[in-house]
Amino acid sequence: MSLGRRVRIKTDEEVELIRLSSLLVGRTLAEVAARVEPGVTTLELDAVAESFIRDHGAEPGFKGYGGFPNTLCMSVNDAVVHGIPNDIPLQNGDVVSVDCGVLMNEFYGDSAYTFEVGEVSAEVHALLEATKESLNLAIQQAVVGKRIGDIGHAVQQYAEGLGYGVVRELVGHGLGKELHEAPEVPNYGRRGNGPKLMDGMVLAIEPMINLGGREIGQDEDGWTIVTRDGKVSAHFEHDVVVRHDQADVLSSFKDIEEVLNKKNTNR
Ligand code: MG
Ligand code: MG
Repeated sequence: MSLGRRVRIKTDEEVELIRLSSLLVGRTLAEVAARVEPGVTTLELDAVAESFIRDHGAEPGFKGYGGFPNTLCMSVNDAVVHGIPNDIPLQNGDVVSVDCGVLMNEFYGDSAYTFEVGEVSAEVHALLEATKESLNLAIQQAVVGKRIGDIGHAVQQYAEGLGYGVVRELVGHGLGKELHEAPEVPNYGRRGNGPKLMDGMVLAIEPMINLGGREIGQDEDGWTIVTRDGKVSAHFEHDVVVRHDQADVLSSFKDIEEVLNKKNTNR
């Protein structure tokens, strides 16, 4: 993935357009959340997402991107990211990372959430919680005066401290009129290293954390990234704009988590 070198600082108007796209991604993921259960296929969920996005005047951001065939990247269990939806039913105990992009008003939104299918093991549940927490810790570093390395350091220190593997070959990125812009946002790094964070930089921060080792490989489908040791991986992603004192999170898990809470109380 070549991002080019130029970081494009966004105007306030551009940030609001990216927010609209990012919020539509969250609402799309909530539609998916409502339907994740044993027996459903990732292709069925992909169709729901595509219709929802188009019904809201946007285009799926990933479909056709680099030749990717679908609306959602759906990565089950040992798949880390870039999984292609298929007709294999999800099973109780699976986890599925759902990564969604939309293009609306010429700006992209890009966010991901990892869902539990039915009941998962305590070990896998803890991995998902920790990956989401590593994203929150990373977002706390996305302020003026910090550097890209501070974001990666926050993820790495927390996740490795719990004994998890932090994927290094795939990274977060700038976001705007391009799905992937400079700078790269690794999930590892050293404090005080890397490009300076500037007011108006929009970043997609997306830790990919493995239950086992950090090593990955690519499936023979040419897309799906999988863990080398076959253990489960989790992935959460938010779009944020760097500001003074506190990052402004443009995407939202609120709708998703309302759906999940409702499902839990009905169980
Ligand atoms: Mg994404
Ligand atoms: Mg991304």
